[in-house]
Amino acid sequence: MKKVTVIGGGIAGIEAAIFCRKEGFEVELISDRTYLFIYPIAIWIPVSTLSFEEAKMSLSTLAEKHGFSLTVDTVTAIHADTKTLTLEKGGIRIEEILIIATGSGKMRHPGLEHTLSICGTPEQSLQL
Ligand SMILES: Cc1cc2nc3c(=O)[nH]c(=O)nc-3n(C[C@H](O)[C@H](O)[C@H](O)COP(=O)(O)OP(=O)(O)OC[C@H]3O[C@@H](n4cnc5c(N)ncnc54)[C@H](O)[C@@H]3O)c2cc1C
Repeated sequence: MKKVTVIGGGIAGIEAAIFCRKEGFEVELISDRTYLFIYPIAIWIPVSTLSFEEAKMSLSTLAEKHGFSLTVDTVTAIHADTKTLTLEKGGIRIEEILIIATGSGKMRHPGLEHTLSICGTPEQSLQL
């Protein structure tokens, strides 16, 4: 069975992992969070209508339900030429098929560091 590695435990990464499982691939999901954060309902956290916990879904529960494995670690580098990725804790690994679903948080527009946004890190919903 061919193996697919998905980086990112957001909606895109989970969707990709479930789809690849249905297509018969072995799937490993790598995420630096232990939970899927449900951004669309996070608008209710700053006004205390929803708790932070209620906007989280456990990735290990999703992994168990859909039959993929979960690694909680941070990807610090991806090298397409050598087909390797580097994990903060797990070190360098060779990957054959890689899906990158790390979200838009990597776009750092000038001035963004002075703002809080419901689209930012999950913790920003609490700061707001
Ligand atoms: C208030 C609000 C309302 C919204 N409403 C809707 C809606 O109605 N309909 C809709 O379709 N969309 C909606 N969206 C947008 C939607 O929530 C986002 O488009 C979606 O969450 C993006 O998912 P993603 O998986 O691409 O990214 P993210 O959710 O950002 O997930 C990225 C994942 O990658 C992980 N990650 C990042 N870097 C690394 C790394 N180096 N190593 C390991 N893991 C890493 C993160 O921990 C995270 O788990 C809304 C968003 C907001 C904020």
